[in-house]
Amino acid sequence: MFEGSNTVGKKGIDSGYTRGAGSLGKEGRTGRERCWKGLLIVILLLFLVSGLGCAAQKTKYVKPRENPDMYQRVDRILTDSRKVINPYPIYRFQFTILEDKTPNAWVNTQKGILVVTTGLLALCDDNELALIFLHENAHIKYDHAAKNSLLSDVTSAAFTIGGLFLPGVGYGNLVVNPLVTRGYSRSQELEADKDVVNQCHLLRLTPQNYISALEKMRQYAASTGNGSDSTGLFDTHPNLQYRIDTINRGTGR
Ligand SMILES: [Zn+2]
Repeated sequence: MFEGSNTVGKKGIDSGYTRGAGSLGKEGRTGRERCWKGLLIVILLLFLVSGLGCAAQKTKYVKPRENPDMYQRVDRILTDSRKVINPYPIYRFQFTILEDKTPNAWVNTQKGILVVTTGLLALCDDNELALIFLHENAHIKYDHAAKNSLLSDVTSAAFTIGGLFLPGVGYGNLVVNPLVTRGYSRSQELEADKDVVNQCHLLRLTPQNYISALEKMRQYAASTGNGSDSTGLFDTHPNLQYRIDTINRGTGR
């Protein structure tokens, strides 16, 4: 999973409100004023509602002094992996533990942070965690986030240029851009998984340890009724079952 890689809506849609200004009579003006007031109230309400929503879902990080054992566990796994995995750029990252029962982990490459949820720590054993970190390490090693945003920018640029010749084409970017980047991040997930399969022996582990981690997450997703691609769990594009099947095919199972 990547943070901040979403570029949908980068291109603003101009509402075109300039037409006919000043040509309205008194009646038209008051009607328009009423309309604006209504609109303002709606915007204010939306603002309030979204504000409440944000307050309810406020992210809470576990502080190291609140749960030193949890931090020591992650630190030990990263330190042990660093001894045998090379390159292991994730080791240079800071890590933080997010209070969230959904099992997940991701790297914010811009800030150099590895985020691990309490749900993941509760669900996985140390071997499985080491392999999940190895997957995240691959994302950093291959510079996936930067490649993804570059692809998004190139796609946007292509549509912008297209829009110069054919008015309206530019808006196609809103539809095509997410599809292109999603398709690409799908291949990135498989590439990172492949790295885990190829390197797990260095940690004296097998692809089965990794499958076990993915399987636990798949079961978690199924138990919450989110068994499909749309779970948002641990990079579920493509979905976990597809990734498990791909690993099994690759290892001849
Ligand atoms: Zn991933």
